Parts: sequence; structure tokens; C-alpha cells
Amino acid sequence: MHHFPVPYPDELIYSLVARAGIRSAITSPKQLLEQVFGDRKVIATLDLPSHLSAISSLLVNTGKFDVQRLIYEHTMFPIYAPFVDESTRIRALKGMGSRSKSSVHLMLGAVASIVKTSGNFRSCFLCVAEQQQKYGESYWSRLWHLPSLPHCPIHGLLNQSSTSYHDNRHTYHLYDQIRCNIPRNNDNNDKELLHYLAKKAQEVLLLPCQKSPTKHQWSKFYNHLAHDFSCGKGTKQVSHEMIAERVIKKVAIPELAVDFNMDTNWLRTIFRHHRKAFSYLQHLTVWSAFIPDMTVSEIIKEVKKKGKANVVVTKILKPESERIEEKHIKWRNLISTTSIKKARSLSGGGALYAWLYRNDKEWLLAFNRQNYSQSAPRKKKVNWDARDRVLTKQLLRIIDQLDTVITGPRRSKNYLLKQLKHSSTLSKKLPLMPKLTSTLNRYQESTFEFQARRLTMTVMTRTQAALGMSRWQLMRSASLSEERIQPIVEKLLDWIVMESNIN
Ligand SMILES: [Zn+2]
Repeated sequence: MHHFPVPYPDELIYSLVARAGIRSAITSPKQLLEQVFGDRKVIATLDLPSHLSAISSLLVNTGKFDVQRLIYEHTMFPIYAPFVDESTRIRALKGMGSRSKSSVHLMLGAVASIVKTSGNFRSCFLCVAEQQQKYGESYWSRLWHLPSLPHCPIHGLLNQSSTSYHDNRHTYHLYDQIRCNIPRNNDNNDKELLHYLAKKAQEVLLLPCQKSPTKHQWSKFYNHLAHDFSCGKGTKQVSHEMIAERVIKKVAIPELAVDFNMDTNWLRTIFRHHRKAFSYLQHLTVWSAFIPDMTVSEIIKEVKKKGKANVVVTKILKPESERIEEKHIKWRNLISTTSIKKARSLSGGGALYAWLYRNDKEWLLAFNRQNYSQSAPRKKKVNWDARDRVLTKQLLRIIDQLDTVITGPRRSKNYLLKQLKHSSTLSKKLPLMPKLTSTLNRYQESTFEFQARRLTMTVMTRTQAALGMSRWQLMRSASLSEERIQPIVEKLLDWIVMESNIN
């Protein structure tokens, strides 16, 4: 097959195949399967596809996309990988590369899990606007298809379609062909929790290819975690009641509601000896309650250290107290040159923090508290009134500049904020800056304004390229849909179509 497209960041293989169809102008689904896979029976799968060696060979000229990379960067596989046994991980990788109709979903526990993939398409309009801006087309991102978590890690609640990819077993749908609607009950109180989970899930998706920890290591990790946070009973047991008290507030997904009448509810079993794999959301929910600030890769590193014979080694090397003192000195030195947060993001610093956290938590937390409180009063007081004036002026200048440019993503409040200096800390401080807030409210681009601008951009580019101006062509290129188009934009569209017919 010629002109096979190169995947965009986080683009699902499913989406890539759909784009390949359009590029080669293949309208028959079976013919597309034949051309891409050399097999007319391949089933179009959104999350965990197989037959990936065929895709890899179509991309061989790029020299970049071996099967493993396709799996880790363009499927939902990484959301399962760290939580299943190493042997299962290897078997699933093989299954996804090969032509066999292997049951990857079964292997990875996606079928039996209480956290399910719905199969329905989801999308984020803001991500789509960014895709359009960067690449001139839209595609299905894997960030929108986290099982049981309809939340974009960047922009929040996702739009959902009533169509499932299961509906057509052999057809690959383009993003433009599926209608996604804004969900009705979007007043979820757990927005912050959902946002945290989606962010962490993104971290899991981005983990590099690596061996999975064993069930035994996971069991140990959770046992130690309970003891570290005073939820232990005796030397080995854990107090499930105290754990529940901590975790229950952090359950944001209905599927994960804990049934306290059941001795085998998931929260109890994850803190017992692991007999089966747990889903990513179960792990993330527990982490959010105990170790919200630890990065996912720090956690996985920590888990992999469990159950190794390091206790014996330390005894031979040095007395425990001496080792701990050495680490104290290292941490003190590090914090004298940089902040705690920064120190933890350094490769040696993160490991040191994790070590101290495991072996001498009380000292670490006390030291960090003291260190933080010493540096806090030194901060200068901010004059918010003055900052409000300066930033408002800056914003007005930016708006002036933007007014002269037709292209670009939607100029939402968030987008305008991002154009300002130190934008990342500003959104939380908006209540202190009334002028800036009202300017943002006044000048942000409304839905209809953005639709009208997209339509104008489309007409300009199509005119330059001498392309057709039929109603559907314009709607499609401007990403307008019958459901969402605003009445005033519809009138504009009708007028353009009529005018271009006359000419
Ligand atoms: Zn998004």
C-alpha cells in the first residue's frame, strides 16, 4: 500500500488505518483490510488491536515504528502492562504483533475486570482544535479512551458517542465520521479526582517498555504502604477498616464503589496476597489516597524493589544506622541547593527520597516540613492590584494582535490566559484580579464566533486551492456538524454556498 500515513502522537492504530483508507480513497472496508493487513477477516479494534507487524512493515521506511513501539505508543496496552505478570505481558505483546486471533483482551484481564472499556467513541473538542491547528486534520487519540474514565487528562470531561466500534466489525471510522455529544450529567462533583486519575493514567501510558513486577511484589508493596501510613496491625497484618477510611473518599468511579458487606471487595483483596491482576484504576485510586505526589515511575521502581534480598545485603555492607545517617546527609546537602520539589524530580534525588521514605519516613517528613516553613516567609508579598492592571494591559495588547490573525485555535479564556507570562499559576489567582477576569470574560471567543472563523478559514484555503464549495465539503473541512452548528453560522454557510453557485 502506498502513502500509508505516519501516526500522530498518541494516535490509536485504529485511527491510523481509517486515515490510510481515506488517503488511498478506498471505500470498501474489506478492500482496506486486504490492502493494509493482507487479510480480509481482521476485526477493527480500538484499544488492543493485533496484526501489528503488518502495520510496522508498512512504516518500515520511517525506520521508527517497530511492533513494540506501535504497541507502547499507539494502543491502550501500557495501561495494563505494569499490572499483569511478566509472562502475560510477553504473551500479549506477541499476540498483538501476530496475525493470530489471540485473545489479548482476555489475557490482560480487560474482559473480567470491573473496570470496562465501553467500546463507544469519545472525543475532546479542545484536543481536536489543537490537532486541526497542528496537523490540519483530526484523529482518535488514546488519551480519550481510558477504560471507565471519560476524562481528557488535559481538558477534562469528554464528549461521548452512542456509536461503538463493535457495531461494525470490519470498518474503521474516521474521527469526522462519528458524532460525539456533550454528556448530559456533566456536573460531577469529583472533577478534581477524575482529573488526577486521568493525569496519572497518562503517566502510566507513557511508561517506557519494561518488565512487569510480580504479584508477590505488588502484595508486598501494598502491605508496606499500609504499615507506612499507620494502617498496620501487628507486624504483618493490615487494618482494612483504617485503609477503607482513607481510600473511600478517593473513589470517583461508580464501578469502584466498595461493598463493605463483602469480605472479598476489591479494596480488601488489593491489600491481601495478590492472586489476580487489578486494573489500573484500582491501583491509581489507592495511590491517590496514600501517595498522591509520587510519580508513577517512582512507584513502579519502588514496587520492583520489593521481595528482593536487599535486607541481607545491607547487613553485610554497613550497620543500618550508619546507612541512614549517610542518606540524611545526602538529602540535607541536596535541599541546601534546591527545593524539595525540584530535588525529587532529579534522577538521584527521586531515588533518595523514595529510599528515605521507605526507611525513615518520620525524619524525612519532619525535615521537609521544617525546610519548607523556613523558606516560606521569605516569599515576597504580591501586590495583586498592580499585577491585575499590568496583566490586563498585556492581555489587551495580545487581543489586538490576535484580531489581525485569522488562523489559530479557539481563543477561549484558557487559551488567552496561556498567552500571558507565568500563565500556569494565574488561573488559580483570578479571583484576586477582577479587571483581568472581566476582560477575559468579555473577549473570549464564543462557540459561534469560533465556528464562523473556522468557516472563513476554510473558505479562504479552498478558494486559494480552487477546491469545491459544496455544503458538505465546507462543513467537513471546518469541522462543523449538523447538531452543533449555531443558527447564525448556518445562515452564513448557506449564503457562501449560494454565492459560490452563482459564481
Ligand atoms: Zn483534550
